[in-house]
Amino acid sequence: MRPTTPRILLVSPHCDDVAWSVGGTVGMLSATSSATLVLVSVFSYATVTASGSSLRGLAPDVVAGCRLAEDERFATSLGLTHVTLGLPDAALRGYTRDTILGEPLPTDEGARLAARMLADLVAAEPFDVVCSPLALREHVDHVIVRDALRDIVRPERLLHYEDQPYAAELGNQTEVAARVSAARHDLRPRHVDVTLHRDAKISAIRAYPSQLGRRDVVQQIMRYAAFSVGRTVERLWASTAHGASTAHDILDVAT
Ligand SMILES: [Zn+2]
Repeated sequence: MRPTTPRILLVSPHCDDVAWSVGGTVGMLSATSSATLVLVSVFSYATVTASGSSLRGLAPDVVAGCRLAEDERFATSLGLTHVTLGLPDAALRGYTRDTILGEPLPTDEGARLAARMLADLVAAEPFDVVCSPLALREHVDHVIVRDALRDIVRPERLLHYEDQPYAAELGNQTEVAARVSAARHDLRPRHVDVTLHRDAKISAIRAYPSQLGRRDVVQQIMRYAAFSVGRTVERLWASTAHGASTAHDILDVAT
């Protein structure tokens, strides 16, 4: 049974992940459904900026504050309830270029804290669906969030999004689908047509100027999302291993 006013938790390892990956779907749910949308940003204390960002060279607290403010503006623009866990990102927890992709280090206290805080959040409030990253490029912070949610959320309530811009860097939708299917045989894709919400999707990407720099991330993500003639699509994945999937049903609220 599909709830009439579903509660959906959108989990973002870093401040921009949900916006960049499923900004169109979130925009559509916000505009056309009665869903309650809660955005949680996990490793939300971060000082990384794109090359060319005007924040480069400023004090770490200032940069982190500006990044949080970008996230807050995105959440407010779509009427999302916003929760920030305030954990430092991998770069601030000692990860290097050699260790940042893959499993968390055994000494990573931040990984344990993130799992505990997400478990507390999910236990405190009932959510009909929890939206998790797939961790397509295995960035350690994305892996931590994905694996924590897998342990604490029932599979039929989990929806996975394709992390951007990682998905676009890996190839086109066909190539990424082959990769996801090879890794997780139980996941099936759901194409969400966000053509009518293209502007919301583009605005969601542009909401994070500190991460754009000189790269044309908007073009990169929108090119990936182009689907047949003139359509824009975001793809989410849900498990079919446990019968009817609440996660897929929830998207029927708006599509
Ligand atoms: Zn991220």
